[in-house]
Formats: sequence, structure tokens, C-alpha cells
Amino acid sequence: MAKVVIIGAGFAGHTAAMYLGGVLGKQHDITMINQSDRFLFVPSLVWVGVGHMDVEKTRFPLKPVYDRMHVKFVLGRATEVHPDDQYVVVEMKDGTGGTKQVPYDYLVVATGPQLDFAATPGLGPDHGNTYSICTSGHALQAREQYLGAVERMKKGERQRIVIGTGHPGATCQGAAFEYVTNVHKDLVRRGVRDKADLTFLTNERALGDFGVRGVHVKQHGNVVSSEDFIRAVFKEYGINGEIQKGVVGVEPGRVHWQDFAANDGATDFDYAMLIPRFTGMPLKYIGKDGEDVSSKVVNPLGFVTVDGIYGLPYPTLAENPDAWPSVYQNPNYRNIFAGGIAFAPPGPISQPHVNPRNLSISAAPPRTGMVSGIIGRIIAMNIIDLIQQGRMTHHERMSEMFAACIASMGDSLWDGSAAVIVVYPVVPDVRRFPNEEGRDMFVTHMEMGLAGAWMKRMIHSTFMWKLQGKIGWKIIPE
Ligand SMILES: Cc1cc2nc3c(=O)[nH]c(=O)nc-3n(C[C@H](O)[C@H](O)[C@H](O)COP(=O)(O)OP(=O)(O)OC[C@H]3O[C@@H](n4cnc5c(N)ncnc54)[C@H](O)[C@@H]3O)c2cc1C
Repeated sequence: MAKVVIIGAGFAGHTAAMYLGGVLGKQHDITMINQSDRFLFVPSLVWVGVGHMDVEKTRFPLKPVYDRMHVKFVLGRATEVHPDDQYVVVEMKDGTGGTKQVPYDYLVVATGPQLDFAATPGLGPDHGNTYSICTSGHALQAREQYLGAVERMKKGERQRIVIGTGHPGATCQGAAFEYVTNVHKDLVRRGVRDKADLTFLTNERALGDFGVRGVHVKQHGNVVSSEDFIRAVFKEYGINGEIQKGVVGVEPGRVHWQDFAANDGATDFDYAMLIPRFTGMPLKYIGKDGEDVSSKVVNPLGFVTVDGIYGLPYPTLAENPDAWPSVYQNPNYRNIFAGGIAFAPPGPISQPHVNPRNLSISAAPPRTGMVSGIIGRIIAMNIIDLIQQGRMTHHERMSEMFAACIASMGDSLWDGSAAVIVVYPVVPDVRRFPNEEGRDMFVTHMEMGLAGAWMKRMIHSTFMWKLQGKIGWKIIPE
């Protein structure tokens, strides 16, 4: 009987657990270790952050799903992995207060991001001056602060709202874009939009870059870029877009940044939501003699190294789509896999920029919910393969992956809107698609309208259905 352990029940790990449990759960030992007893549908936190969704609608309990799927559930925080002796140490959160060793034959690390607020002095809700919508607790705090600003506007005060990225190397610009447009729509609805100055502050080279080198589509014979698209939205909504800015510190009411040309500058705010840098979740990797073997498993930022080609200079990487991992397997410990945000990408997708003062201001590559779910499925199918036939038959690089992203711009089903962006492949592949974009111009698509708002709402409900393993979950794609 094989033992498969997954750490982290997010999009990657939970998807992997459902496939593994469904196929192997009755004959083998599948265990999920997660530090929370509930799944969190992170994308809908945008709506929690403007007070349009109850946080309970973004969560469901994991154990009943795993009981049905023949997956054992350990409620606790994994602190150590012993790759030579093949076990994980877990700090239990079940009220016992103890630790537990969970042995494995195969390990899936799917721990998502550590929100590295400390990398930007003064950033974050706990020890800083800004808010975040990256966890349910953060989204609730952001909502309270945002609604406080709304109250001040109702009393006639002008408020400066700044939303964007809070570190020169941050990712997740899509979530910040979604939040700023939802804030705009909400302020219109509450009748106070004229009292707010809205700024989108980003480390992107251009609006609409999203860390994936932007998107270009053919519309009525013309090529339209995501930059044109976002610029038009911002113009219509009266949002001030500030690009090429790496946030280096925040004091109460003021964000300090450096730009591409190394100018220092500052943006003042009354309420700010800035996404921090993401690093890997801190786990200790300990060898058989008690030595630190982290360098065999993770890169300096704590992301698990897998079967990608690391260390290539950007121009070479940009021309080599095969540098992106295909099976998400650690080369030193071949029974360790990593999916979602936890795996180390081989480098940026968007062209990086180092300014004359040596500050790298570069949008890091996103690993969105859909990408994370697909990788979780690939890892699960390969572990099933290895257990059943001794070799892996599934692979999918991000340079082969299709992704759809629906960024809501107001959640109302009557006058809401959403930008629907479909990209194929996520990482441009100039070999297969020898155009300037390296993407399939027939499949890659961008659309905006009310239908998108309906689709975004449907996605919330459909995915909550799928991720609870309800009837037909497998036919709903990741
Ligand atoms: C506000 C916001 C909006 C977004 N909107 C979209 C969107 O519209 N579409 C989209 O595709 N993507 C979106 N994303 C991105 C998406 O949420 C992430 O890509 C996705 O959550 C990554 O999945 P993951 O499985 O890697 O990590 P996560 O979803 O972060 O899951 C990691 C899990 O591991 C657990 N964990 C971590 N460390 C440990 C440990 N040591 N022990 C035990 N458990 C641990 C965590 O508690 C968590 O349950 C959005 C992100 C944000 C922040």
C-alpha cells in the first residue's frame, strides 16, 4: 500500500487530493495536511473586500469532502519535511497541541504563497499601514477600512484610494485590477464616486501586462492589446494608472516608490490595498543526519525546484518554452512534487527591468487558480501512474497550458461587467506560434461586458460545486 501525502488544500493540493482519493483512496493511503479545516475560494475575496459577499460563501469544510473521497485529513501546519526518511512533521491544530509524524512514499507540496509583507517596510495590515485581500481575515479587515473610507466620503470628505502591488517583484496584478474596478463600481453604486481619487499603482511594465507579457488579440482585423483595453477601462472609470513603480516602503498615508528610471516618488492615500511579494511557505527540509537539505528542494525564495531549467538569462528563457517544468517533480528527491504557487518557475514571463540604482522592478509570473488546479491534476495523475505502472504519462508545461481569467468589474448581474481574457499558451511559445506574441491568435481572446459578470458569478458557484466533489465534479474543467 502506497502512502501519498499532500501539504496544502488550495487549488493545486485540493485538486490533487480529489483525483488521488477518487482513483487510489480505497486501496492506498492518501493524506491531506492543511492548516485550516476549510477550503477558501480565494478569487471571491475581491467581493468580500468591497462588502458584497459574506466570507462564509467563500469557504466550505474539507473533512466531509475527504471522507467521501477516501482521503485522510490531518488538521495542522507542516513544519518539517525529512526527504531521506520520508516523513512530514506536523504541528497539530486539533486542540491536542502536539506534533505528529506523517510518513509518505510520495509527497505533494502545494502550500501556496507566504505573504511576505516584511520585504516592504511599513506594508501590510498587521505591522504596517496598508491592507490586503489575500486571506479571508485580510479581506475582512480591508472591507472594514474601505467601508470606513466610504462613510467619510458620505460626510463630504475626499478620500485617496490606492490599490496595486506593494513590492517591486510582486505578482497577482490581476487581483489588484479586479479590486480597483470593483471599488469604482461600488463607489458609483453608493453615490460617492465623485469624492474618491482612485489610483492603480503597479510594478508592471505596461497596464495589462499581468506578469504574462500582456495579451494581444485580433478584433475585426486589428490587433488590440490588453494595455489598450485596460487603459480604455481606466479612462472610462476615471482611475489613474501608475505603471513601472516598485514600492519600497510605506508610512502612514504615504507609499514610497522607485520607478524604472530610478526616480524616487510617493503617492498619498487614505486607504490602500497593496499585494505583497510572494515567497514559498517556510518549511524545514532535514536530511538523514539532521542536516539542512533545503538547497536540494527549494530555491532561495522558498519555492520548490522542479523539472524546469533554472538560471537561464531572460532572452534565452523567453525563446525556450521547454525550460518550463512539465511534471513538477523535484530532481533530487523524485518522490517530491510541487504544484500551484509552491513550485519555482524558471524565471519571469514578462521582460524584467533593473533600474539604474539596481532595483529590479519586474512583475513575477502568476500561477493562477486555474493553472494551479491543472498542475494539481497532472501531479495526481502521474503519482497514480507511478503507483500503478511505474512510469509517468502526463505532462503539461505552462507554455502548453490554456488559461481563462475573468476579472469582474462590479459584481451586479444587472449593470456589472467583467473582462474575460483567454490566453493560449500562458507562457508564450515563439516556436509553435512564430508571431510577435508567441501565442495562438485564434484562441487568445479578450472581451468585456455584462455577460462576463454572469460568467464570473457562475464560476464561483460551479467551482464551489466541483471542489466539494459533488456529482459530475470531474467533468467541470480546472
Ligand atoms: C484576491 C485574489 C483574487 C484572485 N483571483 C483569481 C481569479 O479570479 N482567477 C484565478 O485563476 N486566480 C485568482 N487568484 C489567484 C489564486 O487564488 C491562486 O493562484 C491560488 O489560490 C493558488 O493556489 P495554491 O493551491 O497554489 O495555493 P493556495 O490557494 O494559497 O492554497 C495553499 C494552501 O496550503 C495551506 N498551507 C500553507 N502552508 C501550510 C503548511 N505549512 N501546512 C499546512 N497547510 C499549509 C494554506 O492554508 C492553503 O490552504 C486570486 C488571488 C487573490 C489573492
